[in-house]
Amino acid sequence: MEYLYGKDMTELRRLCEELSLPRFAAGQIARWLYRRHTTDAAAMTDLPAAARVRLAERCDTGLSAPVGVSTSSDGTKKYLFRTVQGHFIESAYIPDGDRATLCVSSQAGCRMGCRFCATGRQGLQHSLTAAEILNQIESLPERDRLTNIVFMGMGEPLDNPDAVLRAIEVLTAEWGFGWSPTRITLSTAGVTPQLRRLLDTTRVHLAVSLHNPFAEERAAIMPIERAYPIRELVDVLRDYDFTGQRRVSFEYILMQGLNDSPRHLRELCRLLNGLRCRINLIRFHRIPDSPYFSPDRAAMERFRDTLTARGITTTIRASRGEDIQAACGLLSTRGLEGGEA
Ligand code: SF4
Repeated sequence: MEYLYGKDMTELRRLCEELSLPRFAAGQIARWLYRRHTTDAAAMTDLPAAARVRLAERCDTGLSAPVGVSTSSDGTKKYLFRTVQGHFIESAYIPDGDRATLCVSSQAGCRMGCRFCATGRQGLQHSLTAAEILNQIESLPERDRLTNIVFMGMGEPLDNPDAVLRAIEVLTAEWGFGWSPTRITLSTAGVTPQLRRLLDTTRVHLAVSLHNPFAEERAAIMPIERAYPIRELVDVLRDYDFTGQRRVSFEYILMQGLNDSPRHLRELCRLLNGLRCRINLIRFHRIPDSPYFSPDRAAMERFRDTLTARGITTTIRASRGEDIQAACGLLSTRGLEGGEA
């Protein structure tokens, strides 16, 4: 069975050709799928009846409802999805006043191995298809309330660039969801070779997991530093314009005694000197057996204020969903693989 969801116009036109439908039917199918959220070919009433039957015989939408949900005391919800091949992934729905953000996963597990992250401990099980990424949005009970999407869930999005870029295309294309790219943020640990591709082909906001400005210290908590040094990534960013609508921010999980000293502050400023960007400070969310601790709120505020005084707009990101393991760095489906939800 072939999956309809996640197909772009080229693929939909090819499908129409194979089903002996006129080319313009591709646009009709895209509208049904991505604008009217129709999951049943039989309901695509502007297609000839015979074509609807052929479409239903050949394709499934590929959508599936979440198989589990946990709700935090702060209103955050963590949804569990099961992919076609039986892998489990999580998405965090974060309502906040007029905004409602969905943190989507791009992989089941992750092979980047960041020491402070529960997903990293799980290793990589599966890179999601575009349909599996989009399913987290399409099958979300709160879909119509969403204002923003962040690729900050399980996995490294730029380790799965084809599917992630396809999902972004479907979300932002006129024939797709028609969302402004400024409603989407992609977060990367820094797969530099794929970064240019992202920046050249989309206008989504970028978030970079930085966490330490010194190469050796960063490599100790983020092995990706050895393959793709943060310094080279920042140099790539200098080739792009972030003075308009597109923004770049750096994520910095503060870990007591590890990356919160004046020395780190000075080096951070040196590293990002001249780049139009902001820094988001994140409290470290403890995972079992972790040797890291978060500094207290006052220390975080001092760090923030010093960076801001030195010209880098810095905010402390509110922690959401920690009590249901939905906060930054806590997503994990370890133990579920091969089992039942
Ligand atoms: Fe992967 Fe992101 Fe976790 Fe690093 S922080 S292991 S890139 S999911």
